[in-house]
Amino acid sequence: MNKGKKLYEGKAKILYEGPEKGTAIQHFKDDATAFNNQKKSMVEGKGVLNNRISEHIFNNLNQIGIKTHLIKRLNMREQLVRLAEIIPVEFIVRNIATGSLTKRLGIADGTILTKPLIEYSYKNDELGDPLVASEHVLEFKWLKSIDELNLINSYCLRINDFMQGMFRGVGIKLVDFKLEFGRVNIDGKNTIILADEISPDTCRLWDVASEKKLDKDRFRKDLGNIVQAYQEVARRLGIIHEEANISEVKFGKPKAVNIKKK
Ligand code: C5P
Repeated sequence: MNKGKKLYEGKAKILYEGPEKGTAIQHFKDDATAFNNQKKSMVEGKGVLNNRISEHIFNNLNQIGIKTHLIKRLNMREQLVRLAEIIPVEFIVRNIATGSLTKRLGIADGTILTKPLIEYSYKNDELGDPLVASEHVLEFKWLKSIDELNLINSYCLRINDFMQGMFRGVGIKLVDFKLEFGRVNIDGKNTIILADEISPDTCRLWDVASEKKLDKDRFRKDLGNIVQAYQEVARRLGIIHEEANISEVKFGKPKAVNIKKK
């Protein structure tokens, strides 16, 4: 499928014009960044894995009635998506306290929250995506009404419920994650849909038994074996096979290489 002009380049993805009006092509890069771009590297194969994992999760969410931007995966690195006007708020859902929450409030790392906590960040790289209150979201019209906020909050909780179950079934704790939503016009109606991606770049995923981190914290904290961890998530979700290594993921050719489990 021919790509149109580049619309936007982010830290881990590029968005191109799609083949039809209202569509775009989302390309997953291997670039890894953390701490608002202060730490940068290339993790070979990460884009391919995130494309597959995000496709899998979005397809499942579509099936439970959450509207998403995903139309279909096109190839190893690209997805055809609906072009949405992105709401400039990151919705962070947390089940276990870690990361910026523990740093900010001095809460013990690993504290299990009594119910999922939703936090809002203003999507602005220059400002470092600052945490904001729901009142800011409404005051600055990032969302149009309290009804929109309530609707997105309900999507966040539904997505959390679904993903917690999905990951728990394959021995993974869903610690926290980030969601982005956008607006599209469907049959003349302003509709909010899930956009961006859901992958080990945007979630914290811990092995149930060992609490081993299977997500971007391996990059943030220099823990190594980043791609192996992402592969492990894909393998457990049934997206790639037991013997698969990244060559197979990239080129679709079987090549038996064992994945280290720990
Ligand atoms: O850093 P923090 O603890 O606030 O991150 C919470 C969750 O949101 C983590 O899963 C992290 O990967 C994700 N996140 C993200 N993109 C950001 C900020 C956080 O995917 N810009």
